[in-house]
Amino acid sequence: MENMETVYLSLGSNEGDRHANIAAAVDGLRKIEGVEVTSISSMYRTAPVGMKVDAAPFLNCVAALRTALDPLELLDRLEEIELSLGRHSKELYADRPIDIDILLYGGHIVALPRLSVPHPQMAQRRFVLEPLAEIAPHVLHPVLKRTSSALNALTADQQVTREGLAHA
Ligand code: AMP
Repeated sequence: MENMETVYLSLGSNEGDRHANIAAAVDGLRKIEGVEVTSISSMYRTAPVGMKVDAAPFLNCVAALRTALDPLELLDRLEEIELSLGRHSKELYADRPIDIDILLYGGHIVALPRLSVPHPQMAQRRFVLEPLAEIAPHVLHPVLKRTSSALNALTADQQVTREGLAHA
């Protein structure tokens, strides 16, 4: 297909059955017309960052896709998955059954009111960079011009724990 792009998504859950939520979100990704899920990282446990003190730990992973959907079409599909899995609040730092972010969309830079790609916080977050570097160590951040593994090496002070083996 023409104009296929490789896209990296971050998936996170800190509410309810977190493994089931991530699995259901991955299932949802596989069902999107025009999307092929090409790899899924291991699962990582992360203490919540910047949330209320009693928030549950996050379970995070990164998914790689091939798609010809444009970035906003893809965002629409991802928001449908979030809603179908009971995402009830858009409140920043609220507990969430599932959060899906677009990290990278090919080498493109997107600056729209609804969508910023590369994701603005990705270069500071080990819970994003560690799984990204697991499945795509050489992928380049198109603004910072550094690889995921080079950026990840700068976040070694943050703790994330790898939970299990990749399941796809
Ligand atoms: P969140 O709480 O992370 O789900 O943020 C949701 C809001 O961030 C949505 O309304 C999106 O329009 C916006 N947004 C901006 N950039 C991105 C991105 N790269 N991936 C996902 N959502 C984004």
